[in-house]
Amino acid sequence: MQPNAHYELVVEQLERLSKHGYRSLGLPRPIEDSFEQATAPQRAERLWIEGLIAIGLFNAYVIANHFIRGGSSWFDLQLGLCIITPLALIINASMKWSPNRIYRESVIAVVSCAAGLIYLYLESGSSAASSAYAQVGLIVAVVFANVVMRLQFPYAVATSVVLGAGDLFFIFHDRFLGLSDKLLGVVLAVCAIVMTVIANYSVNREERLAYLIRLRSDLQSRELSSVNARLQRISSVDSLTGLANRHAYEMEFRRLWREAAAHHAPLSAIIVDIDHFKRVNDTRGHLYGDRVLVRVASLLVQGLRGKDDFAARFGGEEFIVLLPQATQEGAMIVAERMRKLVEVAGSPALHEPGAPPPMTTVSCGVASCWPSESRDREDLLDAADKALYEAKRSGRNRVCWGELETPPRRRPATHGWSGRHRAHGDSSTRVKVQ
Ligand code: GH3
Ligand code: MG
Ligand code: MG
Repeated sequence: MQPNAHYELVVEQLERLSKHGYRSLGLPRPIEDSFEQATAPQRAERLWIEGLIAIGLFNAYVIANHFIRGGSSWFDLQLGLCIITPLALIINASMKWSPNRIYRESVIAVVSCAAGLIYLYLESGSSAASSAYAQVGLIVAVVFANVVMRLQFPYAVATSVVLGAGDLFFIFHDRFLGLSDKLLGVVLAVCAIVMTVIANYSVNREERLAYLIRLRSDLQSRELSSVNARLQRISSVDSLTGLANRHAYEMEFRRLWREAAAHHAPLSAIIVDIDHFKRVNDTRGHLYGDRVLVRVASLLVQGLRGKDDFAARFGGEEFIVLLPQATQEGAMIVAERMRKLVEVAGSPALHEPGAPPPMTTVSCGVASCWPSESRDREDLLDAADKALYEAKRSGRNRVCWGELETPPRRRPATHGWSGRHRAHGDSSTRVKVQ
């Protein structure tokens, strides 16, 4: 089921059960199943404990009854202690084995009916007083099933009907009670049955309402966290190119800078700018310009070394690439690869047949440093930016690298990079950032 449809169903059931009057407590299948799943272990545990208490009270009653009657009820004592108690203990222990709902509720209903009817059978028909006690015993059985054990509502109704019918049967056949006593007994039993059934309905309804409220708030918080995640994604992604946006870049730059400083590792930045992009827009239109931006963004991602490298749209037709653990030499290789990729594949096909697409190229400014607490991370960007300026100035479609004004604390070996050294053909230049 769709999460929204599930949520609506829960709210609908919540409204239905919250209304005044008596409504069916049954919930639609998926909710009923999840209610059972969520409440069954606790219910079985509670039934086990309450079952033990009930068995203890029953034994106390049987023993007290035997002695109060001067030891005359040996049969009752043996039946209670040797047959009913062991049986009840076995049934009670079965609550520990995660019984399913039908077994769990039926077994309690059957035990309650059996206890009430056996008591009626044993007490009725020996004297007027004992026939009157039988009525009290029946009321105790009904209270036990409907209120103490809180049988689920349909089982509580069935148990009440069986016990009520049994009471009518025994009272009808009783030889010791007069008509008025019989009527009084029946009225009391019926009152007890009706009141406990109402109490049982209320408790079951409250339990279901509490579960539905819990479920609704779970679904709401699940929905909220998925909306939050979506918002987070939207707020950190550039909607046109799918790359990280400026905000995400700033967070990442801060993080990578901190990590590099902590691990005494180098960090490199490449600023990539599309050449003569205004001209592309002017001659081919903004929509074509957008397609170029998307194409260049995907080529930049292809040029990265791996998942730790980071590319973002800096703004307009400028991109920024951050390369953790990359020295100047490694960063130059990455920048040159990106420049080449755009040169070869940066121009999307035009819709006009036969018209050659304009040549899309990029210029890149590269800078590297060894971040530290004492160094301003903007120095790295300044150096990359000035290198980009140099790349533009010296003809575009090339890679230049710039040195930071303040010397890094620990410099990597330059492996031949010095002065106006060029790499990868004629496209790479070093500039000194002033
Ligand atoms: P240079 O080689 O010196 O970088 O020249 P340029 O034309 O690329 O640079 P300029 O800053 O003059 O122009 C950038 C253009 O990029 C202007 C602006 O209209 C365009 N632009 C910025 N954002 C977008 C966008 O999202 N879509 C499109 N189609 N164009 C954009
Ligand atoms: Mg440009
Ligand atoms: Mg620009």
